[in-house]
Amino acid sequence: MKDQPKKITVTQPFLPGLDEFIPYLEKIWESKWLTNNGDFHQQFEKELAAFLEVPFISLFTNGTLALITAIQALRITGEVITTPYSFVATTHSLWWNGIKPVFVDIEPNWCNIDASKIEAAITPETTAILPVHVYGNPCETEIIRKIANTYGLKVIYDAAHAFGVKHNGSPVTLCGDLSILSFHSTKIFHTFEGGAIICPDEKTKQRIDYLKNFGFADEVTVVGPGINAKMNEVQAAMGLLQLKHYETNRLKRMTIASVYRKELATIPGIILQPLNDAVEYNYGYFPVYVDESIVGKSRDEVYEELKAYGVFTRRYFYPLISSFSTYRELPSSAISNLPVATEITLKVLCLPIYSDLSSEDTERIIFSLKKIIQQKKMNS
Ligand SMILES: *Cc1c(COP(=O)(O)O)cnc(C)c1O
Repeated sequence: MKDQPKKITVTQPFLPGLDEFIPYLEKIWESKWLTNNGDFHQQFEKELAAFLEVPFISLFTNGTLALITAIQALRITGEVITTPYSFVATTHSLWWNGIKPVFVDIEPNWCNIDASKIEAAITPETTAILPVHVYGNPCETEIIRKIANTYGLKVIYDAAHAFGVKHNGSPVTLCGDLSILSFHSTKIFHTFEGGAIICPDEKTKQRIDYLKNFGFADEVTVVGPGINAKMNEVQAAMGLLQLKHYETNRLKRMTIASVYRKELATIPGIILQPLNDAVEYNYGYFPVYVDESIVGKSRDEVYEELKAYGVFTRRYFYPLISSFSTYRELPSSAISNLPVATEITLKVLCLPIYSDLSSEDTERIIFSLKKIIQQKKMNS
């Protein structure tokens, strides 16, 4: 057999030079303060809030615990309207709070919850809406806000993909009652593992800070059934360092995205998501839709054949959350309720994009895709 081509994965975490990180570690070693709101934690919280242009941030050990805690903090109960087209943690966070998820279909352009279908899913048990800014594409936040106001619902955005994204010049993480970020290694901004809740006011941040630390308000006062979800000092140090490199990395991904857009536009049957001029993107994902009727191959065939070229794409998001055993018996999980999500989940393919992806590798990905699609044409 021929040598396997070098493997290109869908993403790769950005790591600054180890020499840049060592001084932070030395400080941690000197202080022997490893977690519990240490100096780096405090500094990162401040710098991150300033960087993201948001009033208050509470740091977490990961995004899932941030989601679970956000739902606790707002005392959400009963039913919550959400999307089946996301990473499972979105719906799991409801389950862990004893809440019944109610799935609403997505719109086909950007894969976000279809705001025009939310109202029909509201029942007397509904207390909140949990949308996701999928791939960093902003949801229809204005419409969602109006519905929430009319029906007295809370809105928590899963903004795990939307780090730094702006809509009409304003951070999308300011929308809704709370927004959640994830700093997992696979995300464009990472702290190994990590997450955050973005809060509108100091009182809410205070409550969230208690909840993520067992409910402790002081040494002897426990104000509620808190959990342990604190970010540690090594994570916070990594966050501070990542901030310094963020914009450079974003611009690198922007260049890759524009090469993809230019080159892939010429491949019949590979459909790109439309761009919204009002959005400042973070270029964290590059989803395309494979139109089998034109390509002559299914998305899964393209996905498998790309592997032979060493190109490892991901089927984000497939399968739908509503199809997993925990959720598939729910009435809202019926395929008839989710026709768009059901179609998109079989078409979507996320291509590799990360700041250190070389232009040679980008070219190889494009070349491989063209080859695979042309082959079928010649055979058929
Ligand atoms: C990554 C992700 C999460 C979970 O974040 P973790 O930090 O991995 O716990 C939640 N929702 C979405 C949409 C994600 O992509």
